[in-house]
Amino acid sequence: MHRNDDYYWDKVRETRPAEQRQSLIFQRLKAQLDYVYEEIPFYRQLYQAHGVEPRQIDSLDSFSRRIPVVTKAMLRQSQRDHPPFGNYLGVDFKEVVRIQGTSGTTGEPTLFAISAQDWDEISEAQAMQCWAAGLRPDDIVQIVFPLSLYVGGWGLLGATEKIGAKVLPMAGGNTERQIMLMQQVGSTVICGTPSFCLHILEKARQMGVDLAAGPLRLGFFGGEPGAGIAGVKQRLESGFGIKAIDFGNVAELHPCSNMECEQRTGMHVYQDIDYTEVVDPSDPNISLGYNRKGAVVYTHLWRKSQPMIRYFPGDETIITDEPCPCGRSYPRMPNGIIGRLDDMLIIRGVKFYPSDIEEILRSISWLGTEFRIVIEQKGALQEVTVEVELERAVAPADHQSLVEQKLQANLGLRVSVIAKQPGTFPRTAFKARRVIDRRTGNQDE
Ligand SMILES: [Zn+2]
Repeated sequence: MHRNDDYYWDKVRETRPAEQRQSLIFQRLKAQLDYVYEEIPFYRQLYQAHGVEPRQIDSLDSFSRRIPVVTKAMLRQSQRDHPPFGNYLGVDFKEVVRIQGTSGTTGEPTLFAISAQDWDEISEAQAMQCWAAGLRPDDIVQIVFPLSLYVGGWGLLGATEKIGAKVLPMAGGNTERQIMLMQQVGSTVICGTPSFCLHILEKARQMGVDLAAGPLRLGFFGGEPGAGIAGVKQRLESGFGIKAIDFGNVAELHPCSNMECEQRTGMHVYQDIDYTEVVDPSDPNISLGYNRKGAVVYTHLWRKSQPMIRYFPGDETIITDEPCPCGRSYPRMPNGIIGRLDDMLIIRGVKFYPSDIEEILRSISWLGTEFRIVIEQKGALQEVTVEVELERAVAPADHQSLVEQKLQANLGLRVSVIAKQPGTFPRTAFKARRVIDRRTGNQDE
């Protein structure tokens, strides 16, 4: 419920001193550990196998050191062994009101079952986050996320309803119609993946429509790391005439797991909704604390249906507790989610994420919105070719070598660049797939 004033959704909660919050978190954590151990076979078996019981956990520190993590592979296995929801549902199936799933288009999706009470609390939590980002009751919120098994768009819909703003549920696709309705209705907020929203901007330009001159003022971007990348954020902000808010989407956890506030200083980590740790990726029982890069681990403090206790999605980040100008005492991820450890590329000893290449390309104004990263094995060497699109058919002379030099200087790796005409690559209404790995054993494209 919205309390206090116009600036905060819940001022006492959002500005609570860190130590006070830590002790509340620990109380909730104890209750949650007792619940999963008593009621959920998946967790009891896991903890018994690791020789740990909830009563042995006497601090947040011992929680990190002793409680094992849960991975996506473990959840998949549990759903295979105990179809359809695994042996970690927790609640009676009668209480379930939503069934969502992973957004992958191939293979069996992991299923999420959410109880009525949990869905209500999720919407409430996300209303608090969206309020901090500036969403208000008189906004018209155009959702261009798919409204499908993918939970991200539904989370924003729940938050919009809690706040009492107006939702325009366009869902993904049909770019021209998105632009038409946006103008006709006067949308003030857009929510979608950065790739699809960049495509909307590109289409609007072709139609001769300047969306920045319209009533749009705010955008929520998730499903991909995009809006956490400076160059992408800048393109979205200037193209739509908005403040671009980056949010994280870990479907096992919440539709929007972390979200930036209006100040856009990196996603706030709402520690009293999901307790969040940064750990050593090779040993998740070693906590790294603030200001050190590592793997993120999340714990649901409230959820009863399919609760995640120390869930390890394989994402890399840094969390800092340096104050944010907004006055909220929640820590932040100043660089957002840096990358998925599974997506990390190691070429000739250089480690980087596809988003590192995106960041460099986005800083070059005469490049278009799409690109591809092609990795090939040539003899003993692994080669990277970046295929870029030009913004217009005309580009600076030497444009390929200009991009090559910039990539090499920033990545510390020699890559070749091939420039293509505008509109060469297919556009997506959801998440872009930009890495084409042609090395042996990586025939996924
Ligand atoms: Zn803030």
